[in-house]
Amino acid sequence: MGTASSAENWMQVRPEGLYCAPADIYIDPHQPVERAAITHGHADHARPGHKSVFATPETLAIMKTRYPDDAPSMKHLLNYGEKTDLAGDVRLWLAPAGHILGSAQVVIEHANQRIVVSGDYKRHSDPTCTPFEVVKTDVFVTEATFALPVFSHPPLGHEIDKLVRSMSLFPDRAHLVGVYSLGKCQRVMLALRQAGYSHPFYLHSALIRLTELYEAHGFDFGEWKPVSDYKGREKEIMRGRIVLAPPSALADRWSRTLPDMLPAMASGWMQIRARARQRRAEMALIISDHADWQDLLQTVDDTGAKDVWITHGRVEALEHALTQKGIRAKALALVGREEDAD
Ligand SMILES: [Zn+2]
Repeated sequence: MGTASSAENWMQVRPEGLYCAPADIYIDPHQPVERAAITHGHADHARPGHKSVFATPETLAIMKTRYPDDAPSMKHLLNYGEKTDLAGDVRLWLAPAGHILGSAQVVIEHANQRIVVSGDYKRHSDPTCTPFEVVKTDVFVTEATFALPVFSHPPLGHEIDKLVRSMSLFPDRAHLVGVYSLGKCQRVMLALRQAGYSHPFYLHSALIRLTELYEAHGFDFGEWKPVSDYKGREKEIMRGRIVLAPPSALADRWSRTLPDMLPAMASGWMQIRARARQRRAEMALIISDHADWQDLLQTVDDTGAKDVWITHGRVEALEHALTQKGIRAKALALVGREEDAD
């Protein structure tokens, strides 16, 4: 197989995003383009306004839910492993990324070379999506959200146990868990069910649409109720129970109507104490949808890539560590990638 310098001839960084020139297609562009392949439904990867979109059926469904007025003229639904031939002798297919429902790595083959664009990914267990699949490649394009040696994410069950223990220690307190609406919310609910939690969940209205979308894809969260169904004293029913809300709700007026509210936050960033304080979280649940330091290094190893391009996050640390291992690593200066919310 070829070398990176030749891969750079056909995969370029443009202001709109990562661009495969022979097929005239962008991967996760942050501005509207003619043709886009989308790794997953999070807003910093899936933007509205593209004419033609290649993505998994689940990602397209998520985009439809988030951008009901957006109507790409062409939707190319690709199941994992299903190959499609594009212009310029380019073959494209998607492999599971283990990040959220429908999340994919974009695999692009051209001129006897393969480039895998991972999007966001993780290796830890997640009952809401297909596990990450290793694809051998020449060039691996990776995220670096948690690319510092200090980041080591505990097993999901470990963090869920903390929450379960707290409910028996503080049966009078409503346990409010801050979660992002796409992925984290549903992962926490399923993990709690697997841990034996059998009471209804109480959901902030901002979490409902995407939870229903997961249900439409066959996921069973058991009984849940909108918090807004309960007025005043009726909220007493939430003592010792799980209430889920977006992180911003932890510190706002809304949360103060819950009985003896105990604020918890589920995020990979909860490993950093200052972040937990910032969120006003009394309980920090380290639940991440990204690879931690060891998993980033392990994944690069697994793919066999001799060249690694780093898109966003703690770029320098990963670049340095990979270079030490004899891998050609470089940061891509992509516009418009915010630090991932996780
Ligand atoms: Zn993401």
